[in-house]
Amino acid sequence: MTRLSGITPSGHVHLGNHLGALRRWATEGGPDDLYFISDLHAMTMPYRPERLRALTRENLAVLLAGGIAPETVFVQSDLAGELGALNWVLECACGYGEAARMIQFKEKGAGQDTARLGLLTYPVLMAADILLQGTTEVPVGVDQNQHVELARTLARRFNGTYGEVFAIPRAVVPRTAAAVRNLSDPARKMAKSAQQHAGVVFALDEPDVVRRKFRRAVTDDLGTVRYAPDEQPAVANLLEILGACGDVSPYAAAEAASTYSELKDAVAEAVIEQLRPVREGARELLDDPAELDRTRQKGAGRAAERARPRLDAALRLAGLR
Ligand code: ATP
Ligand code: MG
Repeated sequence: MTRLSGITPSGHVHLGNHLGALRRWATEGGPDDLYFISDLHAMTMPYRPERLRALTRENLAVLLAGGIAPETVFVQSDLAGELGALNWVLECACGYGEAARMIQFKEKGAGQDTARLGLLTYPVLMAADILLQGTTEVPVGVDQNQHVELARTLARRFNGTYGEVFAIPRAVVPRTAAAVRNLSDPARKMAKSAQQHAGVVFALDEPDVVRRKFRRAVTDDLGTVRYAPDEQPAVANLLEILGACGDVSPYAAAEAASTYSELKDAVAEAVIEQLRPVREGARELLDDPAELDRTRQKGAGRAAERARPRLDAALRLAGLR
């Protein structure tokens, strides 16, 4: 079994990414699993090149500092050659209508003359990410199910038309942690691409910044610390975070505080401790660019090596080489 998971460097890594994804990747991953920073995917929307480069390095450093085995991590664009080749083969196996029917494209770009062509074709690149590595399982949220379905379709079609080469991947629902909510607005989840940073705790935030963000977190005027997500969503979010940091249920976490201000202090300190090794480790890696580059190259080398026989076979079957 090979699982592939990615994070797009669309912004700074935040507490939600850490609790919901990176921390799990570090503890639950198998030896054949792969993790990647999907910098190519970040180009489907307007972006600044220098910022993309910096965020890619930062995302990589945070991933590594979180304890994921370095040899299982790579940056997508470091395999641009392999992925580009397979992407073209798959684009030529994909119908225009199939791509245009993707819900994400319809929501973000359909009908807009200036929408990037990459926004239309990125599910095919995602299929290349998946198929190139012989991935069998792709843990994704519901918003990406349709893209994994497309990868399955293209794999089956290629195998049926040209010859068996690709494993057929399937989407798996990741063991769910409730999404960490924005501290200023519990109706929204914490997101890298959030415009407003006040309610988003970043993995690299200094302790004082973390304290300030939690002190300013919205609560409600009921004044009771208890876990009731429907009636008290903001307080419930704080309890879920506190619980996740201590590996206890949010109900148990509610025992730790009797006022909102006690609760905020407790969550802030728990988050600071939770993120400390990540922040310190990532800073160290970012301060030693040569070492980070070496690690990055090793990961890329391993991923490329893994991919090469499959890519060669696919190109040959497709009538190339
Ligand atoms: P963007 O705003 O660009 O979509 P994002 O913060 O949603 O960024 P992704 O790159 O889409 O981050 O997701 C990376 C991983 O982090 C995924 O596994 C996703 O499920 C997880 N994740 C993202 N946001 C949260 C959150 N608020 N709580 C828990 N997990 C999250
Ligand atoms: Mg997202």
